[in-house]
Amino acid sequence: MRVTPQGLYCAPGDFFIDPARPVARAIVTHGHSDHARPDHGAVLASAETLAIMRTRMGEGRAGREQQALRPGEAVTQNSVGIRLVPAGHVLGSCQVVLDWQGSRIVVSGDYKRRADPTCAPFEPVVCDVFVTEATFALPVFRHPPAEAEITRLLDSLRLFPDRAHLVGVYALGKAQRLIALLRQAGWDRPIYLHGALLALCELYEGLGVRLGPLAPVPSPAKRGGGGLLAGEIVLAPPSAEATAWVRRLAEPVVCAASGWMRVRQRAKARGVELPLIVSDHADWDELLETVAAVQAPEVWVTHGRDDALVHALGLRGVRGRALHLLGRGEEEEDAAPLPAEAAPAAETAG
Ligand SMILES: [Zn+2]
Ligand SMILES: [Zn+2]
Repeated sequence: MRVTPQGLYCAPGDFFIDPARPVARAIVTHGHSDHARPDHGAVLASAETLAIMRTRMGEGRAGREQQALRPGEAVTQNSVGIRLVPAGHVLGSCQVVLDWQGSRIVVSGDYKRRADPTCAPFEPVVCDVFVTEATFALPVFRHPPAEAEITRLLDSLRLFPDRAHLVGVYALGKAQRLIALLRQAGWDRPIYLHGALLALCELYEGLGVRLGPLAPVPSPAKRGGGGLLAGEIVLAPPSAEATAWVRRLAEPVVCAASGWMRVRQRAKARGVELPLIVSDHADWDELLETVAAVQAPEVWVTHGRDDALVHALGLRGVRGRALHLLGRGEEEEDAAPLPAEAAPAAETAG
C-alpha cells in the first residue's frame, strides 16, 4: 500500500481506495465527494454507496462497472482479500479490510462510534496497520451526546414559536441523521427541506431509513414575501443561509449542526445563533479508543489534525505516520450544488 498522486494505492491488488482522480479500479468507502469521485473504470463499494454515487453523479459517471459488496462478504483481487465492514459514518459507509500474505490493513475512511439511527455501527477489526482520519483529533473536540443537542433545538422552538428554525446541515448523512434524531425525540411534525436535500432524503427512504413526514420549503405567495414556517424546522445546506432564499422564512433562528460548532469563532463567523455540536466524525476520545480497539502497532493518518494524533499515539507505543492525502475534508458533505443560487465557498465539513 502506498500514497500516489491519485491517492492510496494497493500495488499487489492493483486498485485505489477513495482515489481523488479517475482510475481503472477503485474501492470507495462512502458517498461524500472527497471520497467518491466520478468517472472511475470499476468501482467496488457497498450497494448503498453505489446508489448514493448514482444519485449524486448520475448513472453514467458512478463507475463504468459497479460491484456491490455486502458487509462481511469477501472477494479476492489479484491475491488480495477484500472485505467491507460498517464504519458508522453515513448510510453505506464502510471500512475496507485488506488481507495479503498474512498481514492486514484496515482503511477506515471516515467514521464515528456514536449510535446513528440512519446507518450500521462501526465494527472494530483487529489489524496490523489501521488507516484513520483525524478531522477532530484535538483534545478540545469532545462531542456532547447528539440527543442533548436535539433537546436544545426543541427548547428553542418552544421559546421562539414565532420564528422558523433554519438548521444548516450537509446533504449526505447529517441531514438524515438530524431528522431521525428529531423523530426519536418525538418531533412528528413535517420537517421542511431545501431543494438541495430532497433527492438524498428520498434515497434514504428508498433504502429503508424511515424519516417521517418531509416537505419542500414552499415559495412565498408574492415576490419578496416572507414570514413562512414560523415554529417549524427547516433544513438547508449551510451555504443557503447567505442567499436570498432565506428571506422567505419567518425571522429565522439560524442553527448549524456540525462538529465545528465546538469552535465559537466559526459559529460567529457564519452568523449561527444556535450552534449544535452534532458530528459524523470520531472525536478525540473516540479516535484513541478506536486505535486501542483495533490493536494495530502502526497507524496511518490520512488528513486532519495528524500532528496531535501521531504524538498521542507515540505516547501509547503506536507508530503513527501522517499521509497528508490531498483533497480530503475540503468539500465533504457539502457537494450538492444549490439550484440557481450562488453558493459561497464550502467550508470543511463536520
Ligand atoms: Zn465523509
Ligand atoms: Zn472525508
